[in-house]
Amino acid sequence: MLITPDGWLVAAEKKISPYFDSRPKGEISLLVIHCISLPPGEFNTGAIEKLFMGTLDCQSDPYYQTHLLGKQVSSHVLIRRSGEVVQFVSFLDRAWHAGVSSFKGREKCNDFSIGIELEGTDDQPFEPVQYDSLIKLTQEILKNYPAITPENILGHEDIAPGRKTDPGKFFNWNFYKESL
Ligand SMILES: [Zn+2]
Repeated sequence: MLITPDGWLVAAEKKISPYFDSRPKGEISLLVIHCISLPPGEFNTGAIEKLFMGTLDCQSDPYYQTHLLGKQVSSHVLIRRSGEVVQFVSFLDRAWHAGVSSFKGREKCNDFSIGIELEGTDDQPFEPVQYDSLIKLTQEILKNYPAITPENILGHEDIAPGRKTDPGKFFNWNFYKESL
């Protein structure tokens, strides 16, 4: 899973999101693991990708209308239930995934982090193929961006406690970290 000098995975499907901008200092020192499903609890609907591309029709589902209308969010990468990897934003750019957040006293984690979304929910296990892809991807990210140490890999719930709960208790941190 090689990464080009301009921050794109060679082997991943590329869908360029409009929701990104430049990192203020160019720094990449944190990796944030998320999970998402749209509508919540449903998989393989294509809606996550549409959300990150800005093409989701929020009239098509009451949940979208209430929670997603006008939201401009993205992540660098999505790992589908099948393990397939889709990249929306170059790792060199700032994706809009973390929101209000802080890490070791520093706010605005989007400025210096990479965001990976797993298709999933807080209350059920992730697929083994998703771990396979996540581990390979993380190993490559650590190689390319050495300021991200294993201690600087956290869940969204860790940088936005009380506000976010993903990836949740079913995400197997021990297995993931030991596999890196
Ligand atoms: Zn999240």
